[in-house]
Amino acid sequence: MKNVKGLSPEVINSFKNKLVGSIVLPSDTTYKETRKVYNAMIDKQPGVFAMCENTADVIASVNFGRDNDLLVAIRGGGHNGAGLGLCNDGLVIDLSGIKFVEVDTQNNTVKVGGGNIWNEVDKATHEFGLAIPSGMVSTTGVGGLTLGGGIGYLTRKYGLTIDNLLEADMVLADGTLVTVNATNNIDLFWAIRGGGGNFGVVTSFTFQAHPVKMVMGGPTLWPIEKVEEIMAWYNTFIQETSENLNGFIATMVIPESPFPAHLHNKKFCGIVWCYVGDPDNFEVLFKPVLALNPVFAHVGEMPYPAIQSMFDGLLPQGLQWYWRADFFNELGPEVRAGHLKFGSSIPTPLSQMHLYPLGGAASRIGAEETPWAYRDAKYAGVYIGVDPDPKNATKITNWCKSYYEALHPYAAGGAYSNFMMEEGQERVKASYKHNYNRLVKIKNTYDPNNLFRVNQNIKP
Ligand SMILES: Cc1cc2nc3c(=O)[nH]c(=O)nc-3n(C[C@H](O)[C@H](O)[C@H](O)COP(=O)(O)OP(=O)(O)OC[C@H]3O[C@@H](n4cnc5c(N)ncnc54)[C@H](O)[C@@H]3O)c2cc1C
Repeated sequence: MKNVKGLSPEVINSFKNKLVGSIVLPSDTTYKETRKVYNAMIDKQPGVFAMCENTADVIASVNFGRDNDLLVAIRGGGHNGAGLGLCNDGLVIDLSGIKFVEVDTQNNTVKVGGGNIWNEVDKATHEFGLAIPSGMVSTTGVGGLTLGGGIGYLTRKYGLTIDNLLEADMVLADGTLVTVNATNNIDLFWAIRGGGGNFGVVTSFTFQAHPVKMVMGGPTLWPIEKVEEIMAWYNTFIQETSENLNGFIATMVIPESPFPAHLHNKKFCGIVWCYVGDPDNFEVLFKPVLALNPVFAHVGEMPYPAIQSMFDGLLPQGLQWYWRADFFNELGPEVRAGHLKFGSSIPTPLSQMHLYPLGGAASRIGAEETPWAYRDAKYAGVYIGVDPDPKNATKITNWCKSYYEALHPYAAGGAYSNFMMEEGQERVKASYKHNYNRLVKIKNTYDPNNLFRVNQNIKP
């Protein structure tokens, strides 16, 4: 691998002149700002940013990176916890200039740019009473979230984000542009539905959207001491209730706004609900939740983009961030006791644990139909260490690692790749399980020299 510093000014200038977009070098005044990503713990120093404006810019960037033997990173929304949208010394292909949202109301399909964030997509589709299943924080990038899978409020009803991906345009390692879908480049279409950015730079995604306009949503809270009891009840309830109702269970510290004063800065077990369907049926479905006497319940009707962005303000860019994750099939007594222990010792006000329910539509896709191997898992769990102060980086990291080590023996094996840090090859293999070898085969065909290696890497 070469360093950009070793390239002559002529080579850099010739690259710059090929782009409609711009380049950013360490000597530029905008460099410091440009190299920021969501997680402030990430401190990588790329050699050059290619701020792409269109597909031709992406092709020129891929060719430049490959021909000059540079380490290449692809940045979509920049939200990856491990900072996989950046690299040291090499080239960052930044897609934030490739944004568009085209809604086809005849077919309820939506074509989205490779650099969009979900907030932009949600607002555009909401106008037409439509939504695409995505994640739960709307500042997250469409690119990374989709290519890893995509878990959100609509997972049980409409599946993962990848289950709603119909087509993508992508630039391969040799610089060719291809369209992949169920009939064209079938192997690549399979690989990008969970296999991350290993196979090329996606410049556009086409999704199936669904009729979702208003939802019933919001949190219910119980004192942290009740987490074992509530989790045991939840484990049965969420598997048996209507797929129209989603709710992720969490442990968290309650912030000052917008909650009442008697809850502030205390630890709670919470469930954040989102119901999509006939409002008349909600009350009956929700009765068992209220029968558990939550100390706080604030669930009401809201536009879908409102629930999608409910946590955006609480979790802005620039915080220290560390997380660890696992899939779970069961929430047995040992697991519940672990949540009580670690939920009671949450190290900072913004640190939390989330368990997202899978099942429903996501579990009706076969375990080999996409690289997402854990179709039978019931939950995707994640321990999230967050704090504004870099001095607390070690504290939040250690809490996440200890939480993970305590509960991993009861987990399903691998984790959701989008919730992983850089945790080594065995962990990547465990997460793709029986699908790993097929991913390697496709990698060998399209990227044998591993140009796209700054990711949860499928090694050729
Ligand atoms: C606050 C927060 C909340 C989150 N909530 C959820 C959630 O509810 N559900 C969920 O499923 N995930 C969630 N995530 C995880 C999220 O899916 C991952 O962090 C994901 O990697 C972010 O994608 P990005 O494009 O923003 O990231 P980036 O850092 O830009 O990229 C991440 C990876 O994807 C690759 N990549 C990105 N775009 C492209 C592209 N167009 N073509 C090829 N490769 C590309 C990059 O090379 C890199 O390897 C959350 C993350 C954060 C920080």
